[in-house]
Amino acid sequence: MKFCPKCGTLMKQEDKYFICPKCKHKEKKGGEKTVFTEKINKSSEITVLEHDYKLLPIDNEIVCPECNKSGAYFWSIQTRAGDEGETKFYKCINCGYTWRVYD
Ligand SMILES: [Zn+2]
Ligand SMILES: [Zn+2]
Repeated sequence: MKFCPKCGTLMKQEDKYFICPKCKHKEKKGGEKTVFTEKINKSSEITVLEHDYKLLPIDNEIVCPECNKSGAYFWSIQTRAGDEGETKFYKCINCGYTWRVYD
């Protein structure tokens, strides 16, 4: 149950959002995990589970290619069973840009 912060109407749940039926105010649900997909190697699409970034280790040496500041959360996933190495992901602590590095 969630009430619209703007007009106080009970909001409807729709997919990943709460939507106010009265003023159309839209809010993302407050779950700590968001699932999004990323295209990898053109054809193979995998689902990446976005972590609770506050729990992830931070690499202070890595420089964000987007904002050129240093510091990024990192984690790794196994892209395919065995035949490919781990794919390492970084998420910039400054601008939130996410990128990946192949081992
Ligand atoms: Zn509203
Ligand atoms: Zn950045």
